[in-house]
Amino acid sequence: MKIILFGAPGAGKGTQSKLLVDRFGWSHVSTGDMLREAVTNKTEVGLKIEKMLGLGQLVSDDLIIDILKEKLSKFDPNQGLILDGFPRTVNQAEMLIKEHLEVNHVVYLKVNEKEVCQRLSGRRVHLPSGRVYHVDYNPPLKAGFDDVTGEPLIHRKDDYPEQIKLRFDLFYQETMPVLDVLSKEYVVHTLNISNEDVQSVFKKVLNALDL
Ligand code: ADP
Ligand code: AMP
Repeated sequence: MKIILFGAPGAGKGTQSKLLVDRFGWSHVSTGDMLREAVTNKTEVGLKIEKMLGLGQLVSDDLIIDILKEKLSKFDPNQGLILDGFPRTVNQAEMLIKEHLEVNHVVYLKVNEKEVCQRLSGRRVHLPSGRVYHVDYNPPLKAGFDDVTGEPLIHRKDDYPEQIKLRFDLFYQETMPVLDVLSKEYVVHTLNISNEDVQSVFKKVLNALDL
């Protein structure tokens, strides 16, 4: 099974991906996690993109396509795969279709903007694993620390109010048009998930995937 989880920043793509990985053992490929890892490791790419990430800007299509191609080349084609955060521009979507990656489902997590802002401002992340928490909706056992490793959580720079606004604008301008492109090629399920907790969203996702 190969799926694309689509949605605004904070819609719950990473959260739902983790649940799918735990249940089915699929691989979760988050372009955001990959870029943050490059920044943490201070690689050549990481140093180049650090500022853009902090500001919530999109990095170039060429760069994303390069790193994603390299990552996907390591996967067994029969392995379950979740793409999270990609494609985010029409160019990226067209490239994906051109590469003939077989995608079984696109799941659009549709949530209202006000709710997503609350989610992003309270999000805390364990960078090495990509595990996400929320200070109110999904708190860690010990405030500020990862449940599994006990390591500190961070508040992403792009989860501060000014950056959230910019990321929304970018989502509507650059990323929403992707849905039209994808729907010409793949099955798209739009799930209305406003005011639904993590587990009820998960049920809807499983239902959409016929699982
Ligand atoms: P995305 O990967 O789409 O940017 P995340 O999965 O990181 O979104 O979720 C953003 C924030 O919202 C996190 O703090 C997460 O704990 C919280 N969250 C995710 N799903 C829900 C939900 N259904 N209800 C409330 N909070 C949620
Ligand atoms: P995310 O973790 O999905 O919220 O992504 C965090 C940041 O990484 C984004 O705000 C962008 O700066 C960058 N990014 C992630 N995926 C992409 C992509 N497909 N295209 C361009 N930039 C991306």
